[in-house]
Amino acid sequence: MKRRDITGIQKVLDKVFETKEPPVARCRLLSSGLEAYHRIYTDREVTADKTCIACGNCVDSCAVLRREPERLERTEQRTSMALESVVGKDCEQCYSCALACPMTDPEIKEYIVNSRIKESLPRVKALSQWDKYYAPVVAFICGILIGLFLQW
Ligand code: SF4
Ligand code: SF4
Repeated sequence: MKRRDITGIQKVLDKVFETKEPPVARCRLLSSGLEAYHRIYTDREVTADKTCIACGNCVDSCAVLRREPERLERTEQRTSMALESVVGKDCEQCYSCALACPMTDPEIKEYIVNSRIKESLPRVKALSQWDKYYAPVVAFICGILIGLFLQW
């Protein structure tokens, strides 16, 4: 599959991600739509269709809705529109919805991961010292000891 160059839409994507609203629908519309090889059986041409397929992935992955599932009592729909109406401006900009959406291009998801998701694992100084300096020395000494033991 050919990779899509999204450099031309990065400014628009940045605006979408800076807005405190569910980003999934706009990510979907900025994507390429269904590819001809997608396994959807229908009697109409759907290639490049960008509509929401109502899979509900965005609803299931939303941090706000996981914490406050009672918001879902307002609708039975599991679409991006439902997400916009029950979350709206309370969006916490975690981008899980866009990452979970099968209609969002992988290159857009990659851009989200690289530019928006903060690294949450703190670096432990002692461990990085171990990785960089002590582990190779210990491995070297162990190698010599094993070599001596085998010759003995
Ligand atoms: S999943 Fe995250 S980004 Fe998407 S609507 Fe919910 S809080 Fe907002
Ligand atoms: S995740 Fe599913 S329900 Fe949500 S916008 Fe994408 S296609 Fe629609």
